This record gives sequence, C-alpha cells and structure tokens, in this order.
Amino acid sequence: MKQSSRRILQYLQPYTGAFLIALLCTILFGASEGGIPFIVKYILDGIFAQKNEGLLYWLPLVIVGFALFRGTFDFLQSYLLARLGHLIVKDIRNDMDQKILSLSPAFFVRERGGDILSRVTNDVVLVRTLLTDSVSAVIRDSIRVVVLLGVAFYLDALLAAIAFVAFPIAVYPVTRFAKRVRKFARRGQDGVGNLSSLLQQTIIGSKVVQVFGRESFELERFKGENSRLTDNFVKSEKIRSLTGPINEVTGSIAIVGVVMYGGYSVIEGVRSQGDFIAFLATLFLLYEPFKKLTKVYNAAQQGLSAADRIFELLDEPITIEEPKAPVAFPKNFNIAFRGVTFSYDSNKRFALSDVSFEVMEGERIALVGFSGAGKSTLVDLVPRFIDPQSGVVTIGGIDLRELSLRELRSQIAMVGQHTFLFNDTIYNNIAYGKADATREQVEKAAKTAFAASFIEGLPLGYETQVGEGGFSLSGGERQRIAIARAVLKDAPILILDEATASLDNKAEREVQAALEALEKERTSLVIAHRLSTVRSANKIVVFEEGRIVEIGGHEELLAKGGLYKKLHAMQFKDSSSSEAVALVADAS
Ligand code: ADP
Repeated sequence: MKQSSRRILQYLQPYTGAFLIALLCTILFGASEGGIPFIVKYILDGIFAQKNEGLLYWLPLVIVGFALFRGTFDFLQSYLLARLGHLIVKDIRNDMDQKILSLSPAFFVRERGGDILSRVTNDVVLVRTLLTDSVSAVIRDSIRVVVLLGVAFYLDALLAAIAFVAFPIAVYPVTRFAKRVRKFARRGQDGVGNLSSLLQQTIIGSKVVQVFGRESFELERFKGENSRLTDNFVKSEKIRSLTGPINEVTGSIAIVGVVMYGGYSVIEGVRSQGDFIAFLATLFLLYEPFKKLTKVYNAAQQGLSAADRIFELLDEPITIEEPKAPVAFPKNFNIAFRGVTFSYDSNKRFALSDVSFEVMEGERIALVGFSGAGKSTLVDLVPRFIDPQSGVVTIGGIDLRELSLRELRSQIAMVGQHTFLFNDTIYNNIAYGKADATREQVEKAAKTAFAASFIEGLPLGYETQVGEGGFSLSGGERQRIAIARAVLKDAPILILDEATASLDNKAEREVQAALEALEKERTSLVIAHRLSTVRSANKIVVFEEGRIVEIGGHEELLAKGGLYKKLHAMQFKDSSSSEAVALVADAS
C-alpha cells in the first residue's frame, strides 16, 4: 500500500508546479473557514449585545466579500486538483498501454484478456476517484480541521480540551475499518476482472456456447462470480455506511460536554454569549471536514488497492528486451538454430529440446510434424516473441538477442494460421505494416496476393470495413488480405503458417498461389499443413515432440521410411479425405 501511494506520487512529479498552485488555493480556501466563527462572534457581541448600528452597515459587505473570496478559491482548488487527477490517470493509462504492447505474446496466453482490460478501464477509474476526490478531500479537509482546531483553542482552550477528549474515541473505529475495506475492495476488483474475462470469452466464443447448448452452464458460472462480487461490495458498503453514524454518536458526546459546561458558564456570566456561540459554531464547522476525512480514509483504500493491481501489470517484467548496445545488422540472412531448448511451463515439459539446424539465405524450409510437435514454437523464436531457455538462434552468425529488436522484426513478414485483421478498412489492414505505402503499392500487393479481384467486387472496395477480427470476410479472404499485408512489407525473411486445410479448393488454390508469389526470393520458414506444398522446399525438417527427427529433401525422406513417410502415407491414402489432412494440420 505504501509503495503504491509513493508510486502514484511519482506520477505527480511532472505537474509539481500546477500542484503547488492548487495546494495554495486549497490552503487559502481551508484557512478562510477559520474566519466564520469570528464573524459570528462580532455579529453576536457587536450587534446583539452592544447594539452597535455602524457594524450593521458593514456587515453585508463583509459577508458577501468573504463569500466571494472563499468561492473563488473553492472553485480553483476543486478544479485544479481534479484536473491533476485526470492528467495523472492519463499518464498511467498510457504507461499501461505501452506495457501491454511490449509484453511477450506468451504473457497473454497466461493472463486473461478480460482481467487486463478491467485493470485498464475499471481500476484506473478507481485510482482517478482516489486522486480527484480522496486526495483533494484529504488536503482540503485536513487544512480545515487544523485551522478550526486552532480557532477553537484560541477562542476557549478549556472548552476545546473538553471537546477533544472524545476525538480519539471517534477515530479509533475508523482506523480499524479501513483495513477490512481494503481487503474487500481488492477482492471486488479481482472479481470485476474475473467477470470481464468470463464475458469476453462468451462473446468471442458465442457460437461454441450456443451450438453446444451451454448457455445455462455459462449463465450459472457468470451468476456465481457475479454473486461473489456483489457480496464483497455489499460487505464493504456495510462498513462504509457504519463509519458516519459511529462518528456522529462519538461526536455528540463531545457536544454534550461542551454545551453543559459552556452553557453553565454563560449563565454564570463568565463567558460572553458571542464567545460561546462562536465556539459552538467552530465545533459544528469542524464536524463536516472531520466526517469527510474519516470517510475518505475508507474510499482511499479502494483506490489504493486498484493502484496495486495497476502497478502489478506495470511491473510485469519485459522478458524480451531491446539490447542496450545492439550489434550492426548482418549482411546475410542465414538463420541458424543451435541446441535450442524451450519450455512454456518452466522446464516441466519441453516444447523444443536441443533443436539444431540451419536455413541458408533464400532457402525455403518446410516444417512438418503432428500437431503439438513444436513447429509454431520454433518459428516464434525468429521474431523473438520468445527467447530460448538454452541454445541460441542466430542470423548471419549473430545471436538475435544482440540485434535491435525493431530492426530484426522489420526484416520479417509473418502470415499466421489465425489471421488477425483490425476493425478497420481493407485498405488500412493491408497498409498496416507500411505506414508510408502509396495507393498503388497497396493495390499491387493485393493483386500479388490474389486479393484484388474479390476486394474490387465488394460494393465499397478497399474502403470496406472488415468488422471486429475481420469476421465479416471468409477465411480465404482474410488470409489473402493478411498475405497482401506481408507482400507490402516486402521483408527478406518470411514465416508462414500455411493452414490452408480449412479452405475450399478454389480458395486454397488462390491462397497457395498467393503464398508462392510471396515466397519468391525470400528466406522462408513454412509450417506446412499440406504435404503437397512441401515437395518444392529446399529442406524438410520433421518434428516430433519438440525434437528434430529427420531433415532432408522430399525424395530422400520418403526413401528413408521414417516419420515423414508415415505422415505422407496418411495424407495421401485418400487425398480427398479431410480427416487425413487434419492429422497434419493443427486441429485448432
Ligand atoms: P505445433 O506448432 O507443432 O502444433 P506448438 O509449437 O504449438 O506445436 O506446441 C508445442 C508444445 O507446446 C505443445 O505441447 C503445446 O501444448 C505447447 N504450447 C504451445 N503454446 C503454448 C503456450 N502458449 N503455453 C503453454 N504451452 C504451449
């Protein structure tokens, strides 16, 4: 908790000047409150007791002038502090986005997207409330309390001492409550994260849910999470609602003491009426900021626990780092894997074990093997989505970890099996990797990718919106747009996860032709799902359970009679059987 508040303060640093001005306005506003009891005193003693008529004429001017002064600084402190809160939260949000963009894709497999979204949206709002409401209230109301306390002691030290015996009694339960509020708040925010994550899955997986008839299962699961969440909120509301009344009761004890003793001394003539009423006014004025301060303490716990969740994300280590002094990019693009071992679950199971082979510049290498053999993991090493746990991947003899990450990735084009399109126009989706592309270049890339004809056939052509995830297009269309995007990038290294198995024959032929056009004169690593496309490869690397079991040309491997031959036989036993194809293709 302490750490989170310190870190929020660090975000304040760039705005120190603005903060000091806001603080000054707050001090002026808070301190001016100390004037009210004196005005009350002079009205009572001057006008009512001494019947001083002159004072009556001055009074409107003093009251209105005083209100104007207070109003101005009230506005300034409230506006300036709230503005600061929003600016700080804007910076936090930007930092979170930057963090999310720099985390390894492996992180998002581990963490649920919905929970991350809830941190950026929900938790950030709680921190903003902490800054705009709680922090400003703490500053403003502590100043008011201190000033009014000073006034109370100035007016009547003895009475003040009596009143404030009750003070510690009032504060004690509040500090006890705060801890519990924070605990419930953290559970509540985690609950919101779980709920968003469940919702996100049912939205993305709505077809699966409906076709398997699991609506009631999903609903029950959601209801369970929702009830837990609500219970937490309700419990924390109970504690929060108790704070006010408890303060009121302890406060009333103090008031009783003062009225009894003070009233007695006025009757005895020891104190003037004005003195006593001014003192009572001070006590009543004290009540509001004091009550606010105790409430704020609880509200702040919520914000701080949200801040904990935000800083957890911001502190997530970046596993793939840009080297401090990158080595100059090599002239040749020979890629070598040497003794590469990789595990997703810290060495419990190995997705790749001691993998070594080379890809010479300009070569086309096919990776084959059953689903789960480690092919995708291997190609993920090249753009450094992951780094090997042991062994090394080199380009032109240089360890990838020594090269500039940006430069490395700029040399690679990738077309995946699960094509991702942004919720934007077809044109912008193709131009995504090359911000300065001309219209001609985009259209030429579409032509090369065999996408131009279907795009031009659409009513809005290149300006067609593809919908979220590109789902308003067919699988083959999406894939050709992704290929056009890669064509436009025109990078020397190409990584392909062919995945043509899900396409119909015509779409497959077109996608295949588009891929061949793309592969020309490039160093390519191709995860081949259809063995028919493998023959032309310079080398075929056969994977089984994270290891390379065979390397060689098509004929050579067939002659060898090993796993490749087996895969080949399965696929061509009945070339029209999609079942055989599915054996080689990733079932996903
Ligand atoms: P292929 O591409 O040959 O189908 P993968 O490289 O996807 O194989 O998977 C290799 C192994 O690593 C499999 O056992 C798979 O379950 C596991 N794996 C793949 N991705 C992840 C991940 N993000 N987290 C944990 N395990 C993974």
